[in-house]
Amino acid sequence: MAKYIFVAGGVMSGIGKGVAVASIGKILKSKGFKVTAVKIDPYINVDAGTMNPIEHGEVFVTQDGDECDQDIGNYERFLDVDLTRTNYITTGRVYQAVINRERNLEYNGKCVEVVPDIPNEAIFRIKKAAKKDKADFVLIEIGGTVGEYQNMLFLEAARMLRLEKPKDVLFVMVSFLPIPSMTGEMKTKPTQTAVRTLNGAGIQPDIILARSMVPLDEPRKRKISIFCNVAKEDVISAPDVKTIYEVPLNFENDNLGNRILKKFNLKSRKSNLNDWNKIIRMIRTLRTPVKIGIVGKYFETGDFTLMDSYISVLEAIKHAAWFSKRKPEITWLSSEKYERNPSAVKELKDFDGIIVPGGFGKRGVEGKIKAIEFCRKQKIPYLGLCFGLQLAVIEFARHVCGLKGAASTEFDPKTPYPVIDLMMEQKALLKEKRYGGTMRLGDYKCELRPGTLSSKAYGKEKYILERHRHRYEVNNAFREKLEEKGLKIAGINPEADLVEIIEIPGHPFFVASQFHPEFKSRPLRPHPLFREFIKVAANRRK
Ligand code: GLN
Repeated sequence: MAKYIFVAGGVMSGIGKGVAVASIGKILKSKGFKVTAVKIDPYINVDAGTMNPIEHGEVFVTQDGDECDQDIGNYERFLDVDLTRTNYITTGRVYQAVINRERNLEYNGKCVEVVPDIPNEAIFRIKKAAKKDKADFVLIEIGGTVGEYQNMLFLEAARMLRLEKPKDVLFVMVSFLPIPSMTGEMKTKPTQTAVRTLNGAGIQPDIILARSMVPLDEPRKRKISIFCNVAKEDVISAPDVKTIYEVPLNFENDNLGNRILKKFNLKSRKSNLNDWNKIIRMIRTLRTPVKIGIVGKYFETGDFTLMDSYISVLEAIKHAAWFSKRKPEITWLSSEKYERNPSAVKELKDFDGIIVPGGFGKRGVEGKIKAIEFCRKQKIPYLGLCFGLQLAVIEFARHVCGLKGAASTEFDPKTPYPVIDLMMEQKALLKEKRYGGTMRLGDYKCELRPGTLSSKAYGKEKYILERHRHRYEVNNAFREKLEEKGLKIAGINPEADLVEIIEIPGHPFFVASQFHPEFKSRPLRPHPLFREFIKVAANRRK
């Protein structure tokens, strides 16, 4: 029988609740349990595909093509599992399901009410995920912070499930303890208030994870214990860390795993975090950097949220850098700068490798193309991800094939050479304004062409599965011309005959994929394309 652990946030958001959830999962998994996780996003949006990544963070894509919250990516990386759309719940999904059921007369003429019907649907979905993943433990992260109207109904779901299964449900609150500069003292009051608010929803946390800049001291633990009504041993210190992969190790220092087991009346078990311990220790010794530049558009909201919109790319770079025993040094480069001042592109020489990641729309495109041209000519290792492939093809078409004005119809509908164009079925969808969840999403097969860099990177595999999120494609009408001039098509989707990977032979590393390899990278198992890219980049300075 599955055990359910609900995790809610107190005081404020953005304090690493997703990583905390993933870390609890990692610990339980290392004790030999089967663990899965569910993210509840309290938005009316049915999925994250229609949310602005600058506001909401990266849109992560699962193997079955769900456009979901970036925390699903954290869960996959920490738990080393592949999740599906069942693991992602939004307010939109819950209401949509209830309303559909009502329309189908499935409530048998009963009044359908927000409570209990909405929480019941949430519970139904949580149980479904537990069953699908055959989980001993299900971690359920409730997005937002306690006290918001938005997630009330999900707290209600948590309360109702506890009522139904008192022995199988646990509540964890991830809280924040500020250290205001005027006092220099860590304050517990906001946490106390957050717990009271949670109490108001009928929930008493069993465990409090106390996020702060530094570890909690005894007096603080005692205070939280008394005022928040939890045992002192259940106040777990969660200080800032250099890499998020340290978090499970920190939690285990406070014996979190066995505290959880004890609450469920389960016997203590030893956790085995040896491989993570080893890599964390190794990371601390790294001195030689590998300098990677990511060329993207400039976002007004500041670097923090911007970096969040590409979290899987950043993590994939780190995993690959650690594999090559290099310290990853990642710099965000504004492509618009290269439009205003084309000679600024020379700064790319200072990097060991350049990435153009996924993207949409016109802004900054010409600057990205300039950057790609520079990498191609100056033989700087280049990895293109989705949009980064499309723009590389455009650059090649313009400057090698002589197709002046070649472009994608996404940002230049009147281009004389639409080397990147909408897929056939996409045209119909857009005409009907059916935007949500209709891109080419999730796993599609790619057949690797032998003898290419990509095929070597993947090793023995001839067919690979990679995750997609795009509407536009390399236009097959131009394929011959591109290949004639030396562009190598290193991978195709055999069913639809679509270009999946391109390479430029004779360049130390110029590889771009229509799919998003970053979604499948894991801390101890870097993605083959990132791994090879970083290997070549790391050797560049020798
Ligand atoms: N905008 C491009 C497309 O829709 C690329 C998408 C992406 O980079 N994820 O095809």
